[in-house]
Amino acid sequence: MNEAKFNVVDLVELQLIENAISARLSEIEEAKNNKEQVTAQKEFEKAKENFEMLDKEYAELESSRKKLEDTVGIQNEKIKTNESKLFSGTITSAKELENYQEEIKILKQKNSEMEDRILEIMIEMDDKAEKVKLAREEKDRAAFNVKGISDEISEKIEVLKNIVKGLEKRREDVSSRIPEDYLKRYREIKDRKGGIAVAVLKDNFCNVCNMEIPISAVEEIEDVDKVYSCPLCGRMAVIHRNEIDVIEKELGL
Ligand SMILES: [Zn+2]
Repeated sequence: MNEAKFNVVDLVELQLIENAISARLSEIEEAKNNKEQVTAQKEFEKAKENFEMLDKEYAELESSRKKLEDTVGIQNEKIKTNESKLFSGTITSAKELENYQEEIKILKQKNSEMEDRILEIMIEMDDKAEKVKLAREEKDRAAFNVKGISDEISEKIEVLKNIVKGLEKRREDVSSRIPEDYLKRYREIKDRKGGIAVAVLKDNFCNVCNMEIPISAVEEIEDVDKVYSCPLCGRMAVIHRNEIDVIEKELGL
């Protein structure tokens, strides 16, 4: 391999940046599938359904009331017509007179029953109107809650996306400082080893496979500026130095 001079910490930084990108991307996914939002949305739909049901019931009462009032109106007209006939002096037989009187009596009876029913409906409507009002308030509250949560989530996702953008720029910069053959090896190992290609060796432990490096191998691992290979997991390995902890902290890992 071409032993081009480069800072081996850049290789570790590349790995850490990619870890940070993955972490932020899964935070975005998590935010998209927010449980609180799903619950709030369900609550809203339930409140909306309840409101619509009550509102429909109110409209049905209103429609029945209107129909009854129209019928009472028509019947009143008929009573008036019949009464004017009674006093018009055109009725010639007792039978005819009796018929008109009987019809007026039946119509008045019907109207009285309908007016009672209208009164009942109006009382029912008052009660229903209060329920509709409460259900509307409940629905509006639920909608406000959903909006609050989704605004918060959108804002969070926006922030995370900007962080990822910054990390991608930083990855580009770091990658440009690493020789191509190392980058190639990095990508190969990363694909094969669950996304982690670079390990840090600290106190004779590999921080990725968490295994202790055998004594025989430890003796050969001594140059902090060299890229080794973990004898246990086969990943590229660099000896720990404080700079690495600083980068880790900076990346929020
Ligand atoms: Zn290892």
